[in-house]
Amino acid sequence: MTTTTKYIFVTGGVTSSLGKGIIAASLAKLLQAQGYRTTIQKLDPYINVDPGTLNPYEHGECYVTDDGAETDLDLGHYERFLNVPTSQSNNVTTGRIYQSVIEKERRGEFLGKTVQVIPHITDEIKHRVQILGKSGDYDIVITEIGGTVGDIESLPYVEAVRQLKWELGENNAIVIHLTLVPYLSAAGELKTKPTQHSVKTLMESGVMADVLVCRTEHELPTDLRHKLAKFCNVRPEAVIQSIDASTIYDVPNLMLDEGLDKVVLKKLALDSSLPDLTQWNQFLIRHKNPIGEVTIGLIGKYVELQDSYKSILEAFIHAGAENEVKVKIESIHSEHLTADNAADKLKHLHGVLVAPGFGERGIEGKIDAVKYVREHNIPFLGICLGMQMAVIEYSRNVLGLDDANSTEMNEDTSNPVIDLMESQKTITDKGGTMRLGAWDCELLDGSISKDIYQTNAIKERHRHRYEFNNDYKAQIEAAGMKATGLNPETGLVEIVEIPSHNWFVGVQYHPEYKSTVANPHPLFVAFVKAALNFKTNNNSVSMAQN
Ligand code: GLN
Repeated sequence: MTTTTKYIFVTGGVTSSLGKGIIAASLAKLLQAQGYRTTIQKLDPYINVDPGTLNPYEHGECYVTDDGAETDLDLGHYERFLNVPTSQSNNVTTGRIYQSVIEKERRGEFLGKTVQVIPHITDEIKHRVQILGKSGDYDIVITEIGGTVGDIESLPYVEAVRQLKWELGENNAIVIHLTLVPYLSAAGELKTKPTQHSVKTLMESGVMADVLVCRTEHELPTDLRHKLAKFCNVRPEAVIQSIDASTIYDVPNLMLDEGLDKVVLKKLALDSSLPDLTQWNQFLIRHKNPIGEVTIGLIGKYVELQDSYKSILEAFIHAGAENEVKVKIESIHSEHLTADNAADKLKHLHGVLVAPGFGERGIEGKIDAVKYVREHNIPFLGICLGMQMAVIEYSRNVLGLDDANSTEMNEDTSNPVIDLMESQKTITDKGGTMRLGAWDCELLDGSISKDIYQTNAIKERHRHRYEFNNDYKAQIEAAGMKATGLNPETGLVEIVEIPSHNWFVGVQYHPEYKSTVANPHPLFVAFVKAALNFKTNNNSVSMAQN
């Protein structure tokens, strides 16, 4: 459609958490829906090489791509909105930039020059920004700059944007600046001053915003838009209101109403048309008009921070819409769950998901939860650590291996039913060394999984070091828990099921990463359906066979 790739930079001012990722994803959706091949990239100004080593309390979930990159959770939004896979190129951190510059220096590639932030770090940033553009796969690349302008750590990024804007030329690169227009209830007024200051800060670095997206709790009146336009050097139609929405999935339509796509395309000298949001809007209708409701328990140790389980929560929204039900999530802290209170906390639920995680904290609560739902026939989905807990629970309580455990939690257990993968045994570094990304899995005929996926061969994304210990496979299978999905090369158990149970599936991989608005994940869709059936058929809790 276009010969040169166009670049859109999204910066943030005034405060963090304004939703740059959602604005970028919504704009991308509108451009994609007009036929432009669009991708989004996130530049994060922290020094970790990737977020894989970060605690979820820091930045929420770590999102994993097909190519095994551990990335910022915003990439999940990009994929959910666009239904196009992202890759390592879509997320770059300051750590990664410095790492590659320092590696080049060690290889002698700078030919004796002094290596400096300007130009070497900024050149590396510019190179990383243009990798996606130069691939030939995209008409438009949206680059979201993490952090807030004015922060010391953002300076090299803003300088790289300044240079790129200049080098790429007018109509080829624009800057959207996202700010906050706060409402002071005592004065009864919306205030523009923080936005003016933030635009000024950007200008001090030589970057002029082309479009302002103003986050607000109240409608921006016309005179205020004009005032902002006049003081911030943008046209009045380039002052875009981003009002609080009841769901992030409303934002593309809100941006369409504000004309963000039109303003952007005009500035990039590209044609605009009416975006085709038919499928998107059909999803929204189903999402907003559920016929029924199910309550699903989400059992994890980070439940107080919803961002930790972002992709799981979004996958339930997609699966709920697909089933035309509202999925009410009840977050249950695994540290507060015990064998004594499991019934109280779980008996009213229509399904239980035991979440992924690392380390010992809260795992006994997860095991108690699995026992309860297994014995009471409540639909169960275990993801990664959740699947491993299901195997431990079964080994302890059905096979009678009292001290069955994962060697992650107890290295000395005499029954390591979950054990460190052979390939992990020589690894000492923590960053980027797990079994990551998409791996093949073969599904067994007659399994729930085969029935759900309607194929024998799937590829799902992973992030783990431990695995089902195949030394116990025969014993566990003989007792009734079946390994129904296996990696064809290594025999690694990817899926376990209990056929005698109502609906019991544990997966070593993370299905939540691949659920999108256009393609709700079949496993979540089937799980929500099982929860709905359970609700309809089992108003009173019934005992399972084993
Ligand atoms: N801690 C477990 C492992 O490393 C599970 C990881 C996860 O839940 N993502 O295997």
